[in-house]
Amino acid sequence: MHELSICQALIAQVSGIAHERAGRITAVHACIGPLSGVEAGLLADAYPLAAAGTAAEGSRLELETAPVRVRCRTCGAEGDAAPNRLLCPTCGDWHTDLISGDEMLLLRVELEVDDPPPQQTAMESSHV
Ligand SMILES: [Zn+2]
Repeated sequence: MHELSICQALIAQVSGIAHERAGRITAVHACIGPLSGVEAGLLADAYPLAAAGTAAEGSRLELETAPVRVRCRTCGAEGDAAPNRLLCPTCGDWHTDLISGDEMLLLRVELEVDDPPPQQTAMESSHV
């Protein structure tokens, strides 16, 4: 299953970060391009399976959709395009190169880090 292996790769990446900061993963934010071939729904279903038994167990996967962007070979303009219609937004030419929209990116990881030991000085300011 394609989406499961993507989740496993994602979790391997965030587990490294969690390990470095000695935190527990609470949420993973990723961005999926409409042309990446990754189904957000399947990815969300596969995530808990891939997360089980890892540092990401019990965390949420938050997905965002990346815009499709093209650069025009005729006029040089860059802009957003529809995933099924990669035309230049400025001149309408179809000689465009895809800049983004076919990738999947890890945006950020939310970690829960154990609080440092409480400081005694925090109590003093309340007596006024
Ligand atoms: Zn153009």
